[in-house]
Amino acid sequence: MNEFELIRRYFHFSAGQAAETMAGAVDLGVGDDCALLSLPPGEQLAVTTDTLVSGVHFTADGNPSLIARRALRVNLSDLAAMGAEPLGFQLALTLPNLDTVWLAAFSAGLAEDARQFNCPLIGGDTTKGPLAITITLLGSVPKGQALTRAGASVGDLLFVTGTLGDSAAGLACLQAGKDDGFLLQRYWLPEPRLTAGHCLRGLATAALDISDGLLQDIAHIARASGLSARIHANQLPLSTALRQSASREQSQAWALCGGDDYELCFTLAPKNRAEMLARLGRLGIAASCIGEMVPAGLTPVDCLDDDGKPIALAQGGYDHFAP
Ligand code: ADP
Ligand code: MG
Repeated sequence: MNEFELIRRYFHFSAGQAAETMAGAVDLGVGDDCALLSLPPGEQLAVTTDTLVSGVHFTADGNPSLIARRALRVNLSDLAAMGAEPLGFQLALTLPNLDTVWLAAFSAGLAEDARQFNCPLIGGDTTKGPLAITITLLGSVPKGQALTRAGASVGDLLFVTGTLGDSAAGLACLQAGKDDGFLLQRYWLPEPRLTAGHCLRGLATAALDISDGLLQDIAHIARASGLSARIHANQLPLSTALRQSASREQSQAWALCGGDDYELCFTLAPKNRAEMLARLGRLGIAASCIGEMVPAGLTPVDCLDDDGKPIALAQGGYDHFAP
């Protein structure tokens, strides 16, 4: 099999689907020099890229289907955080060798989630080298309505969707060879909060997805908005599975600093709280208030304990180039 047969066999799967559910904005998909898309009228293009490197983001012996699905989902999470909707994605795949068993499983997982999230594969690049997966996702959002990190005001409430820390606990299970179904699922198959992002348009003042740990990511909102954030540790939403699997301190540390949650964190004027909870409630998505935005202080984020005293945290979020 050569490169072109490989692409045809494993990455042309959107062709059949395009006719049905995934027609959307794609005029021309895999197979030509470029893909062609038509942006819906009045919409802005939203673009995001994420790379997953073997040995950094997953182990080489990891399940190829889960690796593929996770790669697509972490990108979809970025679109969700902007309130955007998927149009299609490009896949840049670097493979050490031509392993058809691996490729078949990878391609099947990718096709499954492409269908589930109505997001066709429209092109990419295939090269030989150390295993790495880069996905570039294209989405659209009504002009001027994207949720950025910059719009928070003093007094805005800070919310997060779902529960925090599960994925970090799942990764610890994975590394310890333990099989906790729920926590591992949270690590491998994060739920991109696309519907939540959509219904936060016009309500949230700032938003992002939590990929590198809550504290580190909230600091981005604080800096971009020229403010500080105050978090109350006892308001962090923790799943039952997390609380049962770890001590209170460990659960809290994972919720604050563990990576890969892919929940949305957003700010909101207090007067919009009920409307937001009603909209998310209709989608079956929980949102918890974890703090508020305050005037810029010495630190971008303070986390307070039950007595209102700042908690000193040993560990920051994930940083690829941390010394
Ligand atoms: P070129 O040499 O013109 O860049 P390629 O041979 O790299 O073209 O790719 C041929 C076609 O296959 C293009 O449409 C490209 O988008 C698509 N393609 C290449 N690799 C992948 C991949 N891993 N997944 C999906 N489409 C791919
Ligand atoms: Mg090429």
